[in-house]
Amino acid sequence: MPSSTIVSFAGGDLRGSSTVSRVETSSRGTIVVVDATPFHPVDHTWPDQPGDTGELSAEGNVVRVAEAVMAAVSDEGQFAVGADIPVKRGVEGWTWLVGHPIDGDAPSWLVEGARVELSVDAPRRAGLSRGHTACHLASLALDIALGDLWRKDPGADALGNPNFEARANQSSRIHEDGAVDEYRLGKSLRRAGFDTETFVATLGEREAAINAQLATWVSTGASSGVAPEGPAIVDRRSWHCELPEGDAEILCGGTHVESLSEFVSISVALDLTDPQLLVMTTKAVPAV
Ligand SMILES: [Zn+2]
Repeated sequence: MPSSTIVSFAGGDLRGSSTVSRVETSSRGTIVVVDATPFHPVDHTWPDQPGDTGELSAEGNVVRVAEAVMAAVSDEGQFAVGADIPVKRGVEGWTWLVGHPIDGDAPSWLVEGARVELSVDAPRRAGLSRGHTACHLASLALDIALGDLWRKDPGADALGNPNFEARANQSSRIHEDGAVDEYRLGKSLRRAGFDTETFVATLGEREAAINAQLATWVSTGASSGVAPEGPAIVDRRSWHCELPEGDAEILCGGTHVESLSEFVSISVALDLTDPQLLVMTTKAVPAV
């Protein structure tokens, strides 16, 4: 029985060395699996943060790794990658792996049992970590800025505010130094007690309130990080940030900055071009 890949990205690792456990041919090309990796893979069911890119090497030989992906192998031996995985992460009967896609066929040195060095592209990881932390902070600031628009209690977010994010968010796409979040403003949100009319009429004020909140948070330089419940890719992880309002904790499979002092600023723009769909675009300016 194979075992789940051990991952070190939660602690910020960019490098590692490990043993190749599988080299598979899949719909995504050649996929290399190792026992332990620093590569963060894109999730196959909630693909918010793109996977890391980088290199695998051994004794002077190097291959590029395209965006790392989730892979899984069933107890019956079925190997699947990314969107081809037929079950949700963590389902019994499957072992969960990080897949490292490489171009073309595997070179002769890259075989099961070989020792390899793994190296993640550092600037891209740092940009994605800033984008992901900025995304979480923007959603918490959005919940605060919309807090007075609820006629019924929608449940609380990580800071105890009415959880617009959980009620309305339908997709989140993180990129280097930013994110785009989409929120559905339909009938079901109205039925849940959200005052859409007042929101639409005060969009500019709401955006300004979010940006003021984000500026305050960035100025604290609060510590931020990922707490894993275990060492394997399948174990739950959560993001923590010690904000003045409290220690925000959100279940999260991604990577994050160590401190809000890594930002000069975080800001959002709210767009309601489609009145049924709020688009929040988050932009981070890194401290150099
Ligand atoms: Zn997250």
